[in-house]
Amino acid sequence: MKKTVAFHTLGCKVNQAESESMKRLFREHGYEVVDFTAPADVIVINTCTVTHLADRKSRQAIRQARRRNPRAVVAVVGCYAQTAPEKVEAISGVDVLVGTRKRRDIVDLVEEAAREKRLINAVGDIRGATEFEQLPLDFSSRTRAFLKIQEGCNQYCTYCIIPYARGPIRSLSPEGVREAVELYVQRGYKEVVLTGIHLGLYGADLPGEINLARLLERIVTVPGLERLRLSSLEPLEVTDELLQVMAQRPQICPHLHIPLQSGSDHILKKMNRPYTAAEFSQRVERAWELIPDLGLSTDVIVGFPGERPEDFSATYDLVRSLGFSRLHVFPYSPRRGTPAAAFKEQVSPQIKEERVHSLVALGRELALAFHRRYLGRTLPVLVEHDRDRDTGLLAGYTGNYIRVLLAGADTLMGEIVPVTIRAAGEDGCEGILAVGE
Ligand code: SF4
Repeated sequence: MKKTVAFHTLGCKVNQAESESMKRLFREHGYEVVDFTAPADVIVINTCTVTHLADRKSRQAIRQARRRNPRAVVAVVGCYAQTAPEKVEAISGVDVLVGTRKRRDIVDLVEEAAREKRLINAVGDIRGATEFEQLPLDFSSRTRAFLKIQEGCNQYCTYCIIPYARGPIRSLSPEGVREAVELYVQRGYKEVVLTGIHLGLYGADLPGEINLARLLERIVTVPGLERLRLSSLEPLEVTDELLQVMAQRPQICPHLHIPLQSGSDHILKKMNRPYTAAEFSQRVERAWELIPDLGLSTDVIVGFPGERPEDFSATYDLVRSLGFSRLHVFPYSPRRGTPAAAFKEQVSPQIKEERVHSLVALGRELALAFHRRYLGRTLPVLVEHDRDRDTGLLAGYTGNYIRVLLAGADTLMGEIVPVTIRAAGEDGCEGILAVGE
């Protein structure tokens, strides 16, 4: 009988994709992947540490796995295992610990632990990591492929735990990126999303003159590639060179996600963000100039320690003036192990809530205004494989990341189709198939 493995994954899209890659490794070694609730020979918990809650959920998942499967080998992987291995080891019943490196060896480590009946701790010091660990490609997403091309971050924003969990920046070679994109295209994917922990610094660790803009030039020529999308970029990495490539290459989606975090220079400095509000605005204005249909989304942290009413107003006004198409608002939550957790002048929960509320309302207003700009226009939409849950309509995304609903047959799923926009709301648009009009 085949050996079985079950996964439980916490946290972000990068973690989800890495779990899918590890599942492939197990399958290649003859394992069958079963549901987390089913009995299994091996259980892998891919943990997250972005907040205290994520730590707690990671610990709960480990305990739950052990309780349900007393005889299974339990392997704990990922960011929480990397930053707090001693806490994970202290949970009874953990057999294997792997951080954010050596995930390629997960099957060997699990089998070694099973054979030798001892705990194997493979978490190394991430600070010295220099190699990009390439895991097998993830084919789990049906509509678009997510390709991680960069790992780690050297920025150390004062609120963020990620550099401690993921280590310094490392990049996949340009040849490796091109090869992976070719494989995805051969598998029929219409859209490839390039991801990374600090994507804009792609190539900074590689020899030669490679950077993200030059990498894009090298891969847009992959035959059959229809759409290439970039995930989050830091403002100073949205260079003219990058914007020019985006403007000239129709395959690159006109969409940028640039975290603003605050519109107050005083707060940006306390956050250790390396730009001013004016520099952020200049980058965005240049982006609009070169790419008029750009969809621009951002993240804002509200209630960072020391955020005065005037700092919040500066953020509010900047967000309004820049007209983002999508806004993600996060109340600041202190993360143990980061400098900001020890800052004085923590903002009260009530003030945070009020500020979150007003920015969320502004975000809705801006999204609606952005969507209305497209009424009557026809846009290419990549149709998802899942229908909209509420309406049962097909759903998809434009290049500039507007969610569009439309009536149509399942055969359109996975296709890029022209859609004429007929209605606009806060969450997206509705339209009709333009074929035959
Ligand atoms: S740039 Fe800042 S927020 Fe982003 S991962 Fe690095 S330290 Fe965290």
